[in-house]
Amino acid sequence: MRYGSRTHNGGQDMSEAETIGAFRARALEWLTTKAPLRQPTEVVDVSVYLNVDIGAERDNIAAAVAWHQQKLDAGFAAIDWPVEHGGQGLSGSHEQAFREEEKAFETPDLHEAFIVTTGMVAPTLRDFARPELQEQLLASVLSGSTMCVQLLSEPNSGSDLASLSTRAERHDDEWLINGQKVWSSGARIAEWGFLLTRSNPDAPKHRGLTAFMIPLATKGVEVRPLKQMTGGESFSEVFFTDVLIPDSLRVGEEGEGWRIIMAMLGYERGGTENWTAGGSYLQVRDLATKLGRTGEPTVRQHLADLFIGDRLVQWNAQRAAANHVEGPPGADANMGKLLYGLQMDRVTNAVSHLLGPALVADDNEHFGWHEHVTGTPGYHIAGGTDQIQKNILGERFLGLPGEPKPRS
Ligand SMILES: Cc1cc2nc3c(=O)[nH]c(=O)nc-3n(C[C@H](O)[C@H](O)[C@H](O)COP(=O)(O)OP(=O)(O)OC[C@H]3O[C@@H](n4cnc5c(N)ncnc54)[C@H](O)[C@@H]3O)c2cc1C
Repeated sequence: MRYGSRTHNGGQDMSEAETIGAFRARALEWLTTKAPLRQPTEVVDVSVYLNVDIGAERDNIAAAVAWHQQKLDAGFAAIDWPVEHGGQGLSGSHEQAFREEEKAFETPDLHEAFIVTTGMVAPTLRDFARPELQEQLLASVLSGSTMCVQLLSEPNSGSDLASLSTRAERHDDEWLINGQKVWSSGARIAEWGFLLTRSNPDAPKHRGLTAFMIPLATKGVEVRPLKQMTGGESFSEVFFTDVLIPDSLRVGEEGEGWRIIMAMLGYERGGTENWTAGGSYLQVRDLATKLGRTGEPTVRQHLADLFIGDRLVQWNAQRAAANHVEGPPGADANMGKLLYGLQMDRVTNAVSHLLGPALVADDNEHFGWHEHVTGTPGYHIAGGTDQIQKNILGERFLGLPGEPKPRS
């Protein structure tokens, strides 16, 4: 069952909608009054994933939520959401135009938990939650005032997510949950989790899954942060021991979990087209200029590759926005994730060439670039690995023969 479909214009005749040019001009005017223009800075933050203590994480999220709230109040967030769900009823191209203009301004960094909450959980609740659950949660999830975490991956179920084993057993109007999740980004600061469980072990694996929203403060839920090699703790393991939740927290129908999670992952991959995580073409160009090396042929080649890659990412995002009519993004989203990952690799190659040993020696000037280099591999894995994106593109969109699969 699908509740509240995602029509971009909320029923409005698009010929009556504001043109992209007029919208862009209005957005630029508003941004100019609300945020300073982005300036080149001596200290370059090119980290892919935040590597800070929990206090700084909370401050980061608070700043992102405050900025998002200003945008919501002014009609510059949820731009392509239907009006009845708090959106503006405009098109994906309007949304994309705002994002392009916003990049020129100094705005708060977007914490992963904020992106998961407002960009993945919110649209999934909008599309699949029952009206009562939407009433309870949708507005606060969309505004970011209720932080959420995706509780999908398990120690033995990552790429093959449908094999997961966290069990949900129905007892009248309640569900008993037992099992474990892992790599749960932002779990230590989230209040709610979007949980995928196995509700029917006898059904074929993709059909025996059910999704829930779960408050992490529920008795029997234990969040254990994982220490990463970077020193940070942005991931956690989450354990469920005899956790009881009401059926009213179920999202979608019993057994419909796979379809719902595929939609959520579509929003995740679609959203990555507009990420600004990691170093950019402009930052590498500024670095090469500062080092006085823009005349070197190899450096010029790196910069040309980066410029082309930057345009490809942007054009793919524009195509995705223009093509998108309803529901989660399709092949453009898988392409977008792959393209952004390739661009991050190009940045790694360029800064490795430019900085050499300075990349690994804490010289107080260029060392920050190591955060791009060490963070990029995680980007190729999160939200489905590159290999999985290619499988999806090949099998679902290009019609290539599927890979041999063991019986489920
Ligand atoms: C930064 C980051 C954030 C994350 N955040 C979350 C989160 O918030 N919530 C959550 O639930 N999970 C999260 N994850 C987990 C992520 O979704 C999984 O790590 C990912 O899906 C891969 O699963 P795996 O680690 O078990 O690797 P595996 O599935 O074991 O894969 C190992 C290798 O085999 C390859 N492979 C596997 N199957 C195939 C196939 N069929 N064809 C070709 N190659 C294949 C993979 O591409 C990979 O290279 C996060 C991961 C990262 C890195």
